[in-house]
Amino acid sequence: MIEISSEKIIQKLIESNKNFKSNHEVSWDSGKPRMRLAILTCMDCRINPFAICDISLGDAHVIRNAGARVTEDSIRSLVISHKFMETTTWCIIHHTECGMHALSEEIITDLLKDDLESAVLEDGIWKNPERESTKNKKPGSNYAEHIHWYTFEDQRKTLISDIEVLKNHPLVPSHIDIFGFIFDINSGELKLID
Ligand SMILES: [Zn+2]
Repeated sequence: MIEISSEKIIQKLIESNKNFKSNHEVSWDSGKPRMRLAILTCMDCRINPFAICDISLGDAHVIRNAGARVTEDSIRSLVISHKFMETTTWCIIHHTECGMHALSEEIITDLLKDDLESAVLEDGIWKNPERESTKNKKPGSNYAEHIHWYTFEDQRKTLISDIEVLKNHPLVPSHIDIFGFIFDINSGELKLID
């Protein structure tokens, strides 16, 4: 992993934006997705939903969270996406090697109770490492018990049940078409789940 300070990252972002701004061309009339499509996918940095579906900026809404799960907040965004931005096709894109598959509510809660800083994966087990010095001044917290982390075991079943949650939600109209996919991060294949 590249060791880079937050200050350097921010400088890079501001500098890069100057190039972006000088070439920026507006190619849309409104914020309504041209394909009337909303995609819910994982925040995993190996996934570029525009590239894997060969769509362009302006074609779709993209909502992301850890695990591409149908949470209260993703439902909020999807309902707004249809109600005010006219999307009628919703796709949930899970992916292989998803971190939320390797975790459980208990693992997350126990690790956070002990220590808030980044855990390490050793022989397939997440652990809090011994820390010699740290800038963090805050201790671990039981607050993790109050959060639903939306980890999952069976990916296919989870995807299908999340689609059902959406279809049965009182704020989701029945004419919305909802599809589930699993993206293979190694082969690049996007597989429709039925
Ligand atoms: Zn993921």
